[in-house]
Amino acid sequence: MSSLIFPIDIPIDLSKYSTKNFNSKCDTLIHNISEEYARSKISNCTTIVFEVTQECNFRCRYCAYSDLYPNFRRHQNSDMSFLVAKSALDEIAKIVFSGLRTNKGSIAIGFYGGEPLIRFDLIKKIYEYSKLKKDEFGQEHPWRYRLTTNGYLLKGEIVDFFIENNFSCDISIDGHKSEHDKFRVTRNGEPTWEQIWRNINYIHDNFPEYFNEKINFQVTIHPEYNLFKLQEFFRKNENIFNKKNTRLSTLRMLGLQDCLQQIWEKKYRKLQNTVSKLDKNFWLFDKLNFNRIENKLIKKTSAKKFVNQFSGNCFPGENKLLVNSDGKFSICERVSPGNYIGDFDKGFYFNKIIELEKNWKQTIHNKLCRKCYYWFYCNACYSNSEKNGIFTIDNNFCENVKKSLYGDLTKYLSIEEEKREKNSDITNCLTDFIDKL
Ligand code: SF4
Ligand code: SF4
Repeated sequence: MSSLIFPIDIPIDLSKYSTKNFNSKCDTLIHNISEEYARSKISNCTTIVFEVTQECNFRCRYCAYSDLYPNFRRHQNSDMSFLVAKSALDEIAKIVFSGLRTNKGSIAIGFYGGEPLIRFDLIKKIYEYSKLKKDEFGQEHPWRYRLTTNGYLLKGEIVDFFIENNFSCDISIDGHKSEHDKFRVTRNGEPTWEQIWRNINYIHDNFPEYFNEKINFQVTIHPEYNLFKLQEFFRKNENIFNKKNTRLSTLRMLGLQDCLQQIWEKKYRKLQNTVSKLDKNFWLFDKLNFNRIENKLIKKTSAKKFVNQFSGNCFPGENKLLVNSDGKFSICERVSPGNYIGDFDKGFYFNKIIELEKNWKQTIHNKLCRKCYYWFYCNACYSNSEKNGIFTIDNNFCENVKKSLYGDLTKYLSIEEEKREKNSDITNCLTDFIDKL
């Protein structure tokens, strides 16, 4: 799923504006990426994700693994074996516990699918083995465990295990029953809302502490979604859903069938118009507008550093390392086989990692990204720029970054003026910035 970006028309060409204030880290890095450098980066890995299966008990009508996305894989009976998971963790532990790690935070172990809970047997084994691994290396920093589930199997011994072992759990539910059941159906096309709702309420009523701390929700907004129904549903169930535990996302456009792209963009634009008619005092309005923009603009940077930030994509394997069901290591779930960065048997492919990173740095160097006015905000990364196995950033991509920034800034300021103190540091900084656009 992509973050919420509604396409917005932009009336002026912003490309002529640039700033000289960006540093030249990029030039230096192209020449200095060594195996040692790569090892130190990967040792600070923050999330290891095991794709325990590529199968799912649902066939959601908008799933990234459906016919809507012709170039992505399909649901298939490809399960990870414990031997693969165990060897992969051995290889990863050699690096993250090598003494190079400077990140003091814990490492999240996530489980991904398909639907990960259909491999609960494997999840339990990986959990047990990760504890052994930590003890073997005498590490203080605990692992954290998390997964995203469609919630259908979240009951009985699975819930007991999650509570006992402090698993965080994101449950996908698309709000109101009628909206949810239009798209989120079982393999046989049966509705799923009732069962998921029962499971959610069971945890909420019987384990309130665990529910408050560890359960979050993921709501996917389809372009044909009725936002008023969503508002009504959240209002009615305020004991379950709140601003903090509910994440909203739109469907991903990248990889979508060509014939659908324009139709969905148009429908999302229409949906955007209904957002302004929602209750401004209810948190859903903030979530769909203010919070989304604030997160993108402010938390990424600070007001003072606003135009000086050197951003860019993550180093392969540093932020997230995905272990595919066949034991290949990947930068993320969207990167193709030709760009794998290791496997459970041979460990990390350092030559490949160095090549990828050098090519990427060269690409952004050639595009003059470091002089680009939108650099601090740009989300170009491996996951959204691969075409036929090659990472490229085309002009269309840059145009969309610009449109999106302009739209976000304008909207942010109008909401800021309406809802918050005028003349705050952030407002001043942003007004100053937008004036230059
Ligand atoms: S639950 Fe997730 S993986 Fe399964 S069909 Fe639905 S969107 Fe796809
Ligand atoms: S990729 Fe991003 S930073 Fe680079 S030129 Fe395009 S918009 Fe600017």
